Amino acid sequence: MLQTFPHYIDGQFEPGTAHFDSVDPATGQAWARMPAATADEVDRAVRAARRALTAPAWRGLHASARGKLLARLAELIARDAPQLAELETRDTGKVIRETRAQIGYVAEYYRYYAGLADKMEGRHLPVDKADMEAYTRREPLGVVAAIVPWNSQLFLSAVKLGPALAAGCTVVLKASEDGPAPLLAFARLVHEAGFPPGVVNILTGFGHDCGHTLTRHPLVDKVAFTGGPETARHIVRNTAENLADTSLELGGKSPVLVFDDVDLESACNSIVAGIFGASGQSCVAGSRLLVQRGVADRLLARLAEKAGRIRIGNPQDPATEMGPLATRKQVEHLQRTVQASIDAGARLVCGGGTAPGFAPDSHFVAPTILDCPHAEIPSLRTEFFGPVLSVIRFDTEAEAVALANDSAYGLASGVFTTQLSRAHRLIRELRAGIVWVNTYRVVSPIVPFGGFGDSGLGREGGMEAALAYTRSKSVWINTSDAPIPDPFVMR
Ligand code: NAD
Repeated sequence: MLQTFPHYIDGQFEPGTAHFDSVDPATGQAWARMPAATADEVDRAVRAARRALTAPAWRGLHASARGKLLARLAELIARDAPQLAELETRDTGKVIRETRAQIGYVAEYYRYYAGLADKMEGRHLPVDKADMEAYTRREPLGVVAAIVPWNSQLFLSAVKLGPALAAGCTVVLKASEDGPAPLLAFARLVHEAGFPPGVVNILTGFGHDCGHTLTRHPLVDKVAFTGGPETARHIVRNTAENLADTSLELGGKSPVLVFDDVDLESACNSIVAGIFGASGQSCVAGSRLLVQRGVADRLLARLAEKAGRIRIGNPQDPATEMGPLATRKQVEHLQRTVQASIDAGARLVCGGGTAPGFAPDSHFVAPTILDCPHAEIPSLRTEFFGPVLSVIRFDTEAEAVALANDSAYGLASGVFTTQLSRAHRLIRELRAGIVWVNTYRVVSPIVPFGGFGDSGLGREGGMEAALAYTRSKSVWINTSDAPIPDPFVMR
């Protein structure tokens, strides 16, 4: 008997009318039945969010009270983090040691935005007119359609829901059709926290009907999307219909630059964290390693040795370091691109196929390193969203910058050097939304996150993101009691 999960629409849990089975990537077996939102269900969720936006139960709450609701939600997430982590691991294959740590930290995102709710201030303006006061107010942007991919769903929705609710918006959150269990379970916590009906609606379904209807809906004011660049292009076309504001957090092909002055062991551990953490299924995966020629062979040998020692297995086992890839589609994409790269001249340093000891049709892929002789090897350009590191060598700093910036993406980057002056030069030169210096894959609710180019538009995290869920209203007040002068001249 498969476990079932409901939608959460207008404060009610609904079993849904159409359904699909969710597969446990570790076993390849269906384990749960999920509702697939129809266009009608999406429409009802958006209309509920629109009603909630102006209903006194939400609009009448002052900002500090909204903050308290978010703080309550944060406590509930911290309380239930172990169960949510188990669900995410079951439904996506992400290892339990990472889901536990990440979901525990998701509570911090809600706490941060709870604190910001009453700090989104307007400004008093020193206007150049006599007898006038002018100021701006920050008002909620409206109904937000939040769409997330399957990896890190609780985290990727926290960076949308947190600022949106702090700003006073209402939300229809669409979980990915791949692994929606943790978000559908999270709806119970939203309900328990006491958000009024319709303020948060959570559903799942497929891109072509659920996602399409949601992003074109005339009552949606903002689409906050995380996913791939091709889907983002569909969404931008859809929002030509409703002219909704959009924020896009997309993919990456992030470069990690290693210079010959560094401590190789420390750089090596960061590179492993960047590409083999979460089995490489991370938008900020450091998937391109740019290494100075003098240390390249030593670094590669050390990386291959570490890759060979990674514990691959049951993602629910806390000792496991790499689990299965989430979907069959990804495994096939990875295998095709690795083969195309070898055909184009890359040398396979390690991995390249199914992890040793696993069935060839399983989702368990060995950590893979490709040594690339030139920049046109496909693996240096294509996002794998899997555990594949593509290595290329450079001689000079200028060459390293040119290689790093030679990508349609621009999400994250890493620089490993002990030279302070060089680090500062690279921070300026790298075309990426994030530069990590002598570290990799660190996030915080306080620090904005996002990319350039095909990696997206807008930022998540920090005050910047909260303000992006508000719109500014300009107010003019005449402080003179004198009659209005000549009506045909603009004042
Ligand atoms: P995807 O783009 O296929 O799907 C993402 C979401 O969009 C899903 O919920 C899907 O149902 C929905 N969707 C699909 N078609 C749609 C349409 N036409 N209209 C509206 N919604 C639609 O992405 P994926 O394969 O699930 O996730 C992997 C991608 O996400 C990678 O490119 C990865 O880099 C990116 N990602 C980015 C970040 C970031 O913060 N920058 C974080 C995680 C993942």
